[in-house]
Amino acid sequence: NADTAMYYAKAKGRNNYQFFTPEMNTRAIQRLSVENNLRRALKHGEFELYYQPKIDIASGIMTGAEALIRWQDPTLGLIHPGQFVAIAEECGLIVPIGRWVLHEACRQVQAWLDFGLQAVPVSVNISALEFRHLKFLEGVASILQETGLAPRYLELELTESILMHEAEASAQVLEKLKAMGLQLAIDDFGTGYSSLSYLSRFPIDTLKIDQSFVRDIARNADDAAIVSAIIGMGKNLQQRVVAEGVESSEQLAFLKTQRCDEAQGFLFNHPLPAGDFSRLLGTRTLLSTPPA
Ligand code: C2E
Ligand code: MG
Ligand code: MG
Ligand code: MG
Repeated sequence: NADTAMYYAKAKGRNNYQFFTPEMNTRAIQRLSVENNLRRALKHGEFELYYQPKIDIASGIMTGAEALIRWQDPTLGLIHPGQFVAIAEECGLIVPIGRWVLHEACRQVQAWLDFGLQAVPVSVNISALEFRHLKFLEGVASILQETGLAPRYLELELTESILMHEAEASAQVLEKLKAMGLQLAIDDFGTGYSSLSYLSRFPIDTLKIDQSFVRDIARNADDAAIVSAIIGMGKNLQQRVVAEGVESSEQLAFLKTQRCDEAQGFLFNHPLPAGDFSRLLGTRTLLSTPPA
C-alpha cells in the first residue's frame, strides 16, 4: 500500500520523499518484501554456500573453490544470487550478508582442515559496499581470528569497477589485504572499464576471465583473440589466469593451447553444497583426460 511505499522511499532517501507512479509503487513494494525476507533469511540462517572447484589445467588438480551464496527460502526453495544480491546491495544488507559469507567460508575451510581433509583455498565474492565499508579490513581480520583460518586459504574476488572507483584508496586497501596474507582476484575480467596501467599496479594474484568471452572461444576468432590477450597479459604481470564458465572440452582444448592456468565451469562441476564438495577433497584430480 501507499504508506509502505512512502515509508520505503523515506527510509531509502534519508527524508527525501520520492514520487512513485503506480507501477513503480508495485516494484517498490516487491523490493520491500524481498528486503524484509532477506532480513529474516539472515536472522534464521536461510543462506547457504555452494562451492565450485577451480582446476589447474596442466595437472587436472583442484587448486581452489569459489564460494557462491544460495538462499533456501522456506516457501520458494533455492534462490540464486542473480535474484537477490543486487537488492541486498541496494538496501545495504549486503554488508551483514557478506560478513556471514566470509565467516561461513572461513569456518568451513577450517573445519575441512581440522577433519584432516586436504582443503583448498576458498574464493569469496566481495561487493562494492563491503569493500568500501570502513570496517572491512577489521572485519576480515576478526573473521580469520575467530575461525583460526590461515589467511593464505582466503582469496577475495573483486571486480574492475570496484577497484577503479577511487583507485588510489582501493590500492591502499589491497596492499593491506596482501600484507595480511590474503590472495586477491579480479572477477569478470574484461567486462569493466579499467585502466590497465592502474591494474598492473594493484597487487593482484589472479585474473578471472569473464565467461562471456569464454563462451564462444572455440568458434569466434575475436573472443579467442581477447582470451589469448588476457592470458598473455596475466603471464607478463605474473598473475594466474582462470577461465570462468568452461562448459565444453573444445573450450578447454583451446585454453590448454594458450597455456591458461586454471578453469572453472560446468565441464568439471556445478557449484556444490558443502557436503557434496567435501567428497571431492579426497579425490582432487578432476580432469578425466590426462593433460597433454
Ligand atoms: P561470479 O562471481 O562471476 O560467479 C560465477 C557464476 O557463474 C556463478 O553463478 C556460477 O554458478 C556460474 N557458473 C559457473 N560455471 C558455469 C558454467 O560453466 N556456465 C555458466 N553458464 N555459468 C557458470 P551464481 O552462483 O548464480 O552467482 C552469480 C553471481 O552472483 C556471481 O558471479 C557473483 O557476482 C554473485 N555472487 C555469488 N555469491 C556471492 C556472494 O557470496 N557475495 C556477493 N557479493 N556476490 C555473490
Ligand atoms: Mg566470482
Ligand atoms: Mg565471474
Ligand atoms: Mg560477477
